[in-house]
Amino acid sequence: MATKYLFFTGGVVSSVGKGVTAAATGLLLKERGFKVAVQKLDPYINVDPGTMSPYQHGEVYVLDDGAETDLDLGHYERFIDIRLSRVSNFTTGQVYAEIISKERRGDYLGGTIQVIPHITNEIKRRIGLVEKETGAEVVILEVGGTVGDIESQPFLEALRQLRNEVGRENCLFIHVTWLPTIGATGEIKTKPTQHSVAALRSIGISPNIIIARADQDIDRSLCDKIALFCDVEKNSVIPMKTASVLYEVPLLLDELGVGELVLNKLDIKATRKPDMRPWKKLVENVRKEKPTVNVALVGKYVELQDAYMSVREALKHAALANQVELSISWVHSADLEKDKGWDIVKNADAVLVPGGFGSRGVEGKILAARYARENKVPYLGLCLGMQTMCIEFARNVLDHEDANSSEFDRGTEHPIIDLMLDQRSITDMGGTMRLGLYPCVLQPGTKSATAYQITEVEERHRHRFEFNNAYREEFEKNGMVFSGLSPDRRLVEIVELKDHPYMVSSQFHPEFLSRPMKPHPLFVGLLKAAKERRKIKG
Ligand code: GLN
Repeated sequence: MATKYLFFTGGVVSSVGKGVTAAATGLLLKERGFKVAVQKLDPYINVDPGTMSPYQHGEVYVLDDGAETDLDLGHYERFIDIRLSRVSNFTTGQVYAEIISKERRGDYLGGTIQVIPHITNEIKRRIGLVEKETGAEVVILEVGGTVGDIESQPFLEALRQLRNEVGRENCLFIHVTWLPTIGATGEIKTKPTQHSVAALRSIGISPNIIIARADQDIDRSLCDKIALFCDVEKNSVIPMKTASVLYEVPLLLDELGVGELVLNKLDIKATRKPDMRPWKKLVENVRKEKPTVNVALVGKYVELQDAYMSVREALKHAALANQVELSISWVHSADLEKDKGWDIVKNADAVLVPGGFGSRGVEGKILAARYARENKVPYLGLCLGMQTMCIEFARNVLDHEDANSSEFDRGTEHPIIDLMLDQRSITDMGGTMRLGLYPCVLQPGTKSATAYQITEVEERHRHRFEFNNAYREEFEKNGMVFSGLSPDRRLVEIVELKDHPYMVSSQFHPEFLSRPMKPHPLFVGLLKAAKERRKIKG
């Protein structure tokens, strides 16, 4: 079978769930026996989202090979349960960087370099890498942004060309749009969808399927109208109302016949019957009445919850595993420094401090760790959240008042968290951290080893600073346990407090490997402890 391509484009506005729709469609195809791969094309000029503010871009999702990617890759991995690699995400910045470095080398022999064919060829080359690297039968490709954006034009042009090169019968264009509702009349409008399809057609692409999104029920007559005005078959306009439970999206798309529609249009046959029972069970579990557990998430980008997308999803997975209803209270760490927000923290059954960069709000995170330690509140620290837990311990248990990370105080006498020697000479900010999968050996008998139930794990990293080994002995003598270490024992990967129900932190980011059906042990451990605490509190 020739490789099949599903191209997802977005219309009208962004944030309508194009990534989730693409991911869920991938699952439907995987369930039908196909080897699926996914790729996201991001039209912005940054080389990768690694240097972008989480406020601008949401979370940076890290892959096994250390690629710093768009958060939609998290949806792909969670829904399809695959491990993606660097070829799964590229940006305009990467495309131009490649072409310009070739030009400087003289590879073009004096030729004029143009968007067509040089940029579009490079885009197509990168698309081709996915099939080459993964051997996928179906490649799901999502174009970031919205049709009509000036940046996305070369990408759409490349897809238009690719369609002829791989054969029209091997490609489907799926356009995900938004149907707005007029507040005064409650009327759902299709006009913006018509315009976005017109924009797509003006560059030579007619969508094969339109997935029309809205918050309300969408009447079939509206779909027929879209079909008529947008030149698609009636059965190819899919009305997709916003799902109340994220993980219901694949089930809804399946019920709407998207799996079969895609197969029919590509003229391919499923090799097995999809089994959506685990997803049905998951959604039933989400809807069940359960005792609530309240987690205070103390972060610095809390205004934009997308900045903690994987953390939130990992908490959800772990809550389901513990049969509890999850309630997350978002706390701005800087507020805690000003004596605000403490009522929320005090009300919580667990505290989670996620990763972050820069000094803003760090003192608040340290205060949150102190509160959790002193009051025996379950605590999970992720990356910076581990570092702040250690700084707090050094300051308040070991009495090193000025203990800090050298990221925040270069002159501190007690750099509990410090740069490793090989990081000291680095001047470039992009892609130079400890990134991607690293092994970690768990120390027997610890809470971490109990949570994981295995002795060696591999987890994804994204940080520059490390625990300073000069303090290991002193920490250990005073009740800190180094429960996860690199195999050569040089790097501290997990720490936990001895006399505490669950104060565990990792230098890596466990949230990136949590899956709906495979919740991450460290998160499961946190919510288990939170549930216990809740019971004791009554
Ligand atoms: N800023 C810290 C470091 O670079 C923590 C990074 C993180 O939380 N991802 O080490």
